Amino acid sequence: MKASLDKLNCIFCGMCGGICSDVFRADFDGKSVAMDKELSGELLASAKYAEAVCPTWAITIGNSPVVGNLTI
Ligand code: SF4
Repeated sequence: MKASLDKLNCIFCGMCGGICSDVFRADFDGKSVAMDKELSGELLASAKYAEAVCPTWAITIGNSPVVGNLTI
């Protein structure tokens, strides 16, 4: 299971990186980005917490990539 992040919805509040810096970090374009890594255990729990608190629902934890506002 991996994290995906819809940059179109990211307002770069910084919460995801603050909660789970092993998965989410600032990108060069002033948005956050999700690392391409398999999540399990505490890392998965932390990433799911970031998904839950993201104010713009830009984060998806799972195998479906997010494109724009659509999860495919
Ligand atoms: S919590 Fe959501 S809006 Fe905030 S930086 Fe992360 S992805 Fe962007």
